[in-house]
Amino acid sequence: MSVAPAFLSGQFEQHFGGSATPALYRAPGRTNLIGEHTDYCLGFVLPIALELACYTAAAPAGDGLLRIYSANVGETREIPVEGILNAEPRRDWSDYVVGVAREIARLGYALRGRDLLIHSTVPAGAGLSSSAALEVSCALALLDGQPIQPLDLALLCQRAEREFVGMPCGIMDQYVSVFAQEGAAVKIDCRSLESAIVPLPAGLAILAVNSMVKHELSGSAYRDRVRECGEAVAALQTRYPEVKSLRDVTPAQLDAAAAAVPEVPYRRARHVTTENARVEAFEEASRRGDLKAMGELLVASHRSLQHDYEVSCEELDFLVDSALAVDGVIGARMTGGGFGGCTVNLVRPAAVDAFRAALTARYRERYGREPEFYECKPSRGAGKL
Ligand code: ADP
Ligand code: MG
Repeated sequence: MSVAPAFLSGQFEQHFGGSATPALYRAPGRTNLIGEHTDYCLGFVLPIALELACYTAAAPAGDGLLRIYSANVGETREIPVEGILNAEPRRDWSDYVVGVAREIARLGYALRGRDLLIHSTVPAGAGLSSSAALEVSCALALLDGQPIQPLDLALLCQRAEREFVGMPCGIMDQYVSVFAQEGAAVKIDCRSLESAIVPLPAGLAILAVNSMVKHELSGSAYRDRVRECGEAVAALQTRYPEVKSLRDVTPAQLDAAAAAVPEVPYRRARHVTTENARVEAFEEASRRGDLKAMGELLVASHRSLQHDYEVSCEELDFLVDSALAVDGVIGARMTGGGFGGCTVNLVRPAAVDAFRAALTARYRERYGREPEFYECKPSRGAGKL
């Protein structure tokens, strides 16, 4: 599943020619096990990094241009390094890379002309964070060995997505792409930006299932949810002046202040506060190897996202309900922003084949297309190859 360095170098040479041997960088995508739509509320998340990753091959170019080629898209974007601070977004894929370059220059790192070849195995827009994988691998390629703290790397990529791409994302995707360790999940405190490595029990297969749909709503709904959480905070501050984000509110406090919060922000806040509690419970369950509790928490997370946060969709609900009907499935829920993309499923290893067969047949029968499956083996974070 990982891409061979010789293949990347060959692709680079084929595209850019020349004699320079490119340096190679890799940054993984992720599956979030639990803690959905909590990162921008400064709460807890618990993702794993994937073997699926974005690879960037890079070599210096003498003409002061960044020449960015995505083999996935089949397009090149050229931009002079000189004017990078005044670059304007184009509203296409290249904004993720140009946004990162701009942040690097803004922070005072040296940014030089460079040819970049991008090759990603993370499906784009499927909720497995192809965007953060792209940002982090290109940031490493553009920094070209200039030392940077891992947290600064994650934060600069997040800023590129927030400020240049225009997506008000939390820190989860970039953080886990940088900090992940092989074989374990990462629990991130999105306020302190500290994290803990969380071991996962043996006898557990993690599968992402791609619904192969992405509803138009996803971008605008994400912004709406960010805003609605802000409205909940503003309402809660009339009762609890010390509250700065939904991270500061427990489910019991929210209950006690229910009359002060309008109906929709109340339900959004109920998701976020209970979800933060579920991340803590899931971490404990994972540490003691309690698969049953882990599965129940996943399902509770899904129901909360479905009914309170309203970011699921028919296809995701169908995949979750179909999964839960299969023997050997421990738990399932939507993962990522929602409105399509993937579900994450905890499955007993002996049941994986039956699980795939059952979901393929049911989904094909209902929607006339086949879901894609990705075995999620927790992999290491980003680095040079
Ligand atoms: P996700 O991060 O869940 O995959 P996003 O909507 O956040 O979904 O990011 C997907 C976008 O990232 C794509 O539409 C594309 O613009 C960009 N992208 C991701 N990977 C690549 C790639 N290899 N080449 C070019 N653009 C990419
Ligand atoms: Mg993304």
